[in-house]
Amino acid sequence: MASSKVPFLDLKAHHDPIRQEVMAAMSEVIDVNAFAGGPFVARFEAAYAKFCQAAHCIGVGNGTDALWFALLGLGVGPGDEVITVPMTFMATAEAITYAGAKPVFVDIDPVTYTIDVTKIEAAITPRTKAILPVHLFGQCADMDPIMEIARRHNLFVVEDAAQAQGSGYRNRQAGSIGHVAGFSFYPGKNLGAWGEAGGITTNDAALCARMQMFREHGQAKKYYHDVVGWNGRMDGLQAAVLSVKLKYLDQANAGRRRAAQRYNQLLAGTAGLILPVEAPYAHHIYHIYAVRVKHRAAVMQHLGDRGIGCGIHYPVPVHLQKAYADLGHKPGDFPVSEACAESFVSLPMFPELTDGQIETVVSELKSCLAAGAGA
Ligand SMILES: *Cc1c(COP(=O)(O)O)cnc(C)c1O
Repeated sequence: MASSKVPFLDLKAHHDPIRQEVMAAMSEVIDVNAFAGGPFVARFEAAYAKFCQAAHCIGVGNGTDALWFALLGLGVGPGDEVITVPMTFMATAEAITYAGAKPVFVDIDPVTYTIDVTKIEAAITPRTKAILPVHLFGQCADMDPIMEIARRHNLFVVEDAAQAQGSGYRNRQAGSIGHVAGFSFYPGKNLGAWGEAGGITTNDAALCARMQMFREHGQAKKYYHDVVGWNGRMDGLQAAVLSVKLKYLDQANAGRRRAAQRYNQLLAGTAGLILPVEAPYAHHIYHIYAVRVKHRAAVMQHLGDRGIGCGIHYPVPVHLQKAYADLGHKPGDFPVSEACAESFVSLPMFPELTDGQIETVVSELKSCLAAGAGA
């Protein structure tokens, strides 16, 4: 394949300027053989908790583990229901299922693409244990009403902050608002490791201790196992990489916001195109810049043919995935999520995206829509 004119994501452009610094940090880990858990993980945990304005952070193997341990730590298990959205990555629901509970879906808001807070209460039953909002694409869900509903019904709130490292809600940071939050540091996320990694944040010390036990085979003391846990430790090399990259995260998120603003300016008013909206309460960090078009296949073909990298996040909402056929959902159950799944196109988005690259994407998208592919 010819190299892309505008790649969807350019990790090389992101890593080249900090490569030496990251390599030096990795060497330190190798010098002291601190590969599984250990002091480099502890150092990253302290820095990331501070960044999130949370009291505690636990480094884990990936974002899926983070959400799973969060639910296990809260005591969510068989017979329980957890409310979440169908427009998310599969891992959100997998964590609920692997905790032994049942995912109960609530549709998303058609403007922000996060959980529709007006529909949550109708989904609450005597079995509901937690609400798991997803900060989709880097924009926080509307957390104040969610926390208020949770208080009234005595439920826990778990933030899926896998796409929200540095995202804000009013004057707070993602990861500090719910009872607990799960982050992913998958390489393509806004804060990405050089491999797999994840993190959990909470302000609750007792919950933190329980989650630490699940991460470490259920032991509080080595070889004394109080519960059946798992191996969910963060890798020391990843912690060293993440500690370096964390220093540049605000700057990188600012680069994404600049790129999003430029897209918004240049694409404003284009017929057949729905642009992302930053809610008044949100500090959006644009993990994904998703627009909506009508004839998506034609648009993606046009952009792909011209070397512009695009994606779909996500083509099938979770309630219609084959893996969840046993939940008995059918098309029409969550119309906003379904309409988004059919019309979302994620445009190139990364901190180093240049004005020239943005203009290329915009002019190709506009010419394709003008030719009738949008409306
Ligand atoms: C990436 C992601 C996850 C899972 O994170 P991994 O590190 O890949 O396990 C969970 N939820 C959402 C919304 C994600 O985007």
